[in-house]
Amino acid sequence: MKITPMLQQYLEIKNQHSEAILFYRMGDFYEMFFDDAVEAARILGITLTARGNKGDEEKIPMCGVPYHSASSYLARLIKAGKRVAICEQMEDPAQAKGLVRREVVRVVSPGLVLEEQLLEDKENLYLAAITRHDKLFGLSLLDLSTGEFAAGEFGTTEELLDELNRLNPSEILLPAADELHEGPGDGNPGAGLLLSAELAARLPHCCLTSHPATAFQPPRGRELLLEHFQTTSLAGFGCEHFQAGLGAAGALLAYLQETQKSALSHLEKLRPIEQEHVLLLDEATRRNLELTTSISDGRRDGSLLAALDLTRTPMGARQLKKSLLSPLKDVEAINRRLDAVEQLLTEQELGRQLDEALAAIYDLERLNSRAVLGRANARDLSALGVSLGRLPLIRQLLASQPGLLGQLGQQIDELADLHQLLTSAIRDDAPVGLREGNLIRPGFNAELDELVAMQRDGKQLIAGLEARERERTGIANLKVGYNKVFGYYLEVSRGKLAEVPEDFIRKQTLVNAERFITPELKEFESKVSGAEEKRLELEYRLFCQIREQVAAAGSRIMQSAGCLAMIDLLAALARGAARFNYVRPVVNAGEEIRIVEGRHPVIERNLPPGRFVPNDVHLDQDSKEVMIITGPNMAGKSTVLRQTALIVLMAQMGGFVPAAEAGIGVVDRIFTRVGAMDDLRRGQSTFMVEMNETANILNNATPQSLVILDEIGRGTSTFDGLAIAWAVAEALVQKGGKGVKTMFATHYHELTELAATEPRIHNFHIAVREWNDTIVFLHKLLPGGVSRSYGIQVAALAGVPATVVARAKELLHNIEQGEFTRQGQPRIAVGAQKTAAPGETGKPSQLRLFAEDDPLRRRLEEINPDNLAPLEALKLLYELKQMP
Ligand code: ADP
Repeated sequence: MKITPMLQQYLEIKNQHSEAILFYRMGDFYEMFFDDAVEAARILGITLTARGNKGDEEKIPMCGVPYHSASSYLARLIKAGKRVAICEQMEDPAQAKGLVRREVVRVVSPGLVLEEQLLEDKENLYLAAITRHDKLFGLSLLDLSTGEFAAGEFGTTEELLDELNRLNPSEILLPAADELHEGPGDGNPGAGLLLSAELAARLPHCCLTSHPATAFQPPRGRELLLEHFQTTSLAGFGCEHFQAGLGAAGALLAYLQETQKSALSHLEKLRPIEQEHVLLLDEATRRNLELTTSISDGRRDGSLLAALDLTRTPMGARQLKKSLLSPLKDVEAINRRLDAVEQLLTEQELGRQLDEALAAIYDLERLNSRAVLGRANARDLSALGVSLGRLPLIRQLLASQPGLLGQLGQQIDELADLHQLLTSAIRDDAPVGLREGNLIRPGFNAELDELVAMQRDGKQLIAGLEARERERTGIANLKVGYNKVFGYYLEVSRGKLAEVPEDFIRKQTLVNAERFITPELKEFESKVSGAEEKRLELEYRLFCQIREQVAAAGSRIMQSAGCLAMIDLLAALARGAARFNYVRPVVNAGEEIRIVEGRHPVIERNLPPGRFVPNDVHLDQDSKEVMIITGPNMAGKSTVLRQTALIVLMAQMGGFVPAAEAGIGVVDRIFTRVGAMDDLRRGQSTFMVEMNETANILNNATPQSLVILDEIGRGTSTFDGLAIAWAVAEALVQKGGKGVKTMFATHYHELTELAATEPRIHNFHIAVREWNDTIVFLHKLLPGGVSRSYGIQVAALAGVPATVVARAKELLHNIEQGEFTRQGQPRIAVGAQKTAAPGETGKPSQLRLFAEDDPLRRRLEEINPDNLAPLEALKLLYELKQMP
């Protein structure tokens, strides 16, 4: 293969970006070569060709995409998990001496996209970095498209994974795997490797990028951050105390500087990721409560987020999602939001005008980021101008209001100067490209106006010249034309050639005509096309200047954007409250949750109006701690459980709630455990997952927590399951001396017996009415347990054939008559040795699993499950399996 100078240049550049597909600019195309070409052609479905001189044995595989539509190809490569380095021509090929100079101007990876095709309006797109230092995990994240930048630290893998799962980043930077666990005093070698394996399992769509570990060192990170923010400490951001967190943030910043090669001034502050102030929701809870995606298909439809999203702007929609995943704990802050929502509800005219103004606002955060990164086009700036035009009205509407609304209103920077600049400068019908002109309005720049006039006049002059030449030559059909190769010409048809005067210079011969030029024509041409060229150049220059002015106002834009996001959130909550008949909850620091006629915000909307049966729930620290709820399948147990959690969450977000009345003592965490749902994503057995989550609840729930347990113990045999459920209920009621507010739905009727001995446990059931050997679901939560599960009736309702139903009834009758029921004994007696109900006398009848001196048994006895982390438990299981 012959190495041409161009190939040499290509290889040098490719060498520096071996991890990315190189888009190598050649004229109007980005070309790809070698393996890049093969891979890209496959992913993009474009033709793979070959380049090489005739006779060359080896031809180089290549393919290319046109420059003007490159971003859609780029988007597809990124979606396929690839990285792309964009290499541009850094000088005009016409003027270059020898080979055109080329440089990589930007590397695009899944966490670093600005392409509109890849950004979802309502979602943030995060790039995260993780590192470990002194036993703490450092996490940093960044949304390049909005300028959000944050860092935090986590004590356990579980907490870190939870947070990552909440943020759902598109890409994570990790120190090269073997270096992650090198922290001093870290007695857990291999944690790094385990972590990346866990990450891959838990965030299957996230791209994991390994990065040299030196980039993650905390002192280096701190230095970089101080330099970037031009401060002497990070205390002003509340991040001074971080170590690992700064290591991660520094790695992100360095990575950005390497890949973006443009100003990063829109990263204005580092926000601490803090968990003390928010209501914690672990991954299982977010999933079980269907906060942002539905369980059945993983889509946004059917989630609480979709149900509540009445925002008008993308900033508001992203804020809603964040607020939903991090509700507040501070009573005062919650009430400030509730006051604002109430104000917007009562002052309807204010709400209406605000809605209208918000609806005309584009994505300020992303427009600003594109301006700062030098990627905004004229349409972006025009949209920004239009949006800024609404700020004075919004400010005026709110600034005189009391409370949070007034505060937000006053904090809006109207940006009148920028608005004036943009509306006087940028044409609202500007094209997407920046080199075709038509960007700048007339009257903005005198020199430009002159060039435009010259161009226009020039055209008139040429028309005049055509008329004159016709007259002079007597050729009636002589016309002036234009093409790219020859520029302006005079065209004369074949029949009239004899009449062509001497001073016409022949340029081109066609079948039916000949084309000529004259010195006069060429003189006009140079004037006109000179003007055109100058105009395009000037428009581009003016545009870039304006874009820089916008970028310089970045922090003011972000300030207003932040206020608008919050205002939009509050307005959306008010809108929802009015539309769906929600009430203002009374939120306080007490420990009682009292909901009158509560409804499920998502399910009620899928039913005809009035068909949802509201239910009361009362959980009170002193008397009613744990609710055990029984009832047949499909009665509505899960619904009442989830709606209680959702009402608490909505209240702590600062929103109104679907109930007739609600008193909410703020909770610190909501835990949910929903039985028997296969968790194939994590490749763990259902039961293992269930017990993991149960362990998490038992270890971390406090008296301020709310625990929702739906059918726990279902993943194992009946007796085991019942025993576990019983023990868990007992543990929760005793936990921390005070117990934990718990709602426990179960199909084990035996559990209702717990209430007899434990005053803080109360039984409830969801009523059904028996009717002609079938049942009608009433969906009403009532005090007391039930003794029947109506499984057979539910089976019949579900369409199980009548013969099977009849046979099941017969069997049930036999079983009920047989040895399975021992009068006077709680059925829990079987298999629950340690936690047997008081008064139990029956001996357990379960088969022994082990001989007395079994080594497996001895090993088991050494284990204290309370001290086991989930990962250790898993390792231990493997060990046990190996034993004889
Ligand atoms: P369970 O957990 O007892 O098996 P679910 O809570 O899943 O039952 O409820 C099953 C279905 O019953 C729900 O999908 C819903 O359609 C209906 N449902 C539940 N609760 C109510 C209610 N309070 N009012 C009206 N319909 C309800």
